[in-house]
Amino acid sequence: MSELPQERRLVTAVPGPKSQELSARKAAAVADGVGVTLPVYVRRAGGGVVEDVDGNRLIDFGSGIAVTSVGNSAPMVVRKAAEQLAEFTHTCFMITPYEGYVEVAEQLNALTPGDHAKKTALFNSGAEAVENAVKIARSYTKRPAVVVFDHGYHGRTNLTMALTAKNMPYKEGFGPFAPEVYRVPLAYGYRWLTGPEHAAEEAAAQAIDMITKQIGAEHVAAIVIEPIAGEGGFIEPAKGFLPRMAQFARDNGIVFVADEIQTGFCRTGQWFACEDEGVVPDLITTAKGIAGGLPLAAVTGRAEIMDAAHAGGLGGTYGGNPVACAAALGAIETMKALNLTERARRIGEVMVPRLRALQEKYPAIGEVRGRGAMIAVELVRPGTKEPDAALTAAVAKACHANGLVVLTCGTYGNVLRFLPPLVIGEDLLNEGLDIIEEAFAGV
Ligand SMILES: *Cc1c(COP(=O)(O)O)cnc(C)c1O
Repeated sequence: MSELPQERRLVTAVPGPKSQELSARKAAAVADGVGVTLPVYVRRAGGGVVEDVDGNRLIDFGSGIAVTSVGNSAPMVVRKAAEQLAEFTHTCFMITPYEGYVEVAEQLNALTPGDHAKKTALFNSGAEAVENAVKIARSYTKRPAVVVFDHGYHGRTNLTMALTAKNMPYKEGFGPFAPEVYRVPLAYGYRWLTGPEHAAEEAAAQAIDMITKQIGAEHVAAIVIEPIAGEGGFIEPAKGFLPRMAQFARDNGIVFVADEIQTGFCRTGQWFACEDEGVVPDLITTAKGIAGGLPLAAVTGRAEIMDAAHAGGLGGTYGGNPVACAAALGAIETMKALNLTERARRIGEVMVPRLRALQEKYPAIGEVRGRGAMIAVELVRPGTKEPDAALTAAVAKACHANGLVVLTCGTYGNVLRFLPPLVIGEDLLNEGLDIIEEAFAGV
């Protein structure tokens, strides 16, 4: 953990004057399409704290969207990346390769679910990994179609926009989108019309019916699913849904792709969220938490599928950059050394009971859900399931003003999500929860 004191400290309003000055420069220099959730400009960050340019220290329940799970500038990440930085910064793995890339691949092949032979390819961003998983699945199956789910999020490139469910802000005005993408229902228990106990079976039946009747299973290259839908609202598909869809894929020669970009690397209390129901994906996409904050992404999976693409068909100038690979090796070592799967579970054990107690008090909290350190509350108008995005935004704003970084998400914009760094101290975690309680009391 960095030397940054692990305490909240507010010395100005949030955002303070220096941040406001920088916001004015941002407005003049940076494209408006690049939005900002909380315009405090960061000077340093570590453990569970983000310090801004005005000297405020905020508690971090966001981890830069589940990226800095090992903490910001984690010592092992910094050491390995700095050593690599001094040796060489880039050669392009496709031109003259290096050991770090191979070592990351070996680690991913060993850590991901299943004991079959696996291979890995590295990329720069999550979206790029998902695109490549689709390329690989199409190359292997020689089929065109890709099946995705309601509430799914897979990125912002043209193909991944097509795979993503929500129009605003991700797709609005950016079409036309890639063809041969088909969306089927997700077993969203809280909102399943016939009740959560029917969600898994009915959603799977509907999805399979759509695939077989509308597309034809023999035309489907891949089924791509997040084991817990992230941007869509931290929706855990009702138990049984994932294994059912994986089985359907297996029975029909379809490549089952788990997009674990947000859920992976200890976040949900296991190395990968699909382990929870014993699902073994054919391919798994990772990014975010993989490298402690450096840009890296991967596709890992069955060797015979990964090898389907011809030599030269996969890659990119920067994919598997040596500094990012060194950082990933530092992050993975940290996860093992600090037993961060266990830490993630402990975070859930602290957060969920306190949020459930809050739910007793505030009927606007429709559901508390999630696993490990991937926890959310869905806000509705009391007595209904009508989404309350305005209340969600107000609670988030109150948290921000009080020095807590929280994020919102959800198809209906009515979900507060919590993704603390897995190394956060328990005092800070509880203080963050106090701030959430105060925010509910105040709005
Ligand atoms: C963030 C995310 C992506 C996209 O990753 P980028 O690195 O932003 O391109 C894809 N899938 C899921 C599940 C994500 O959470």
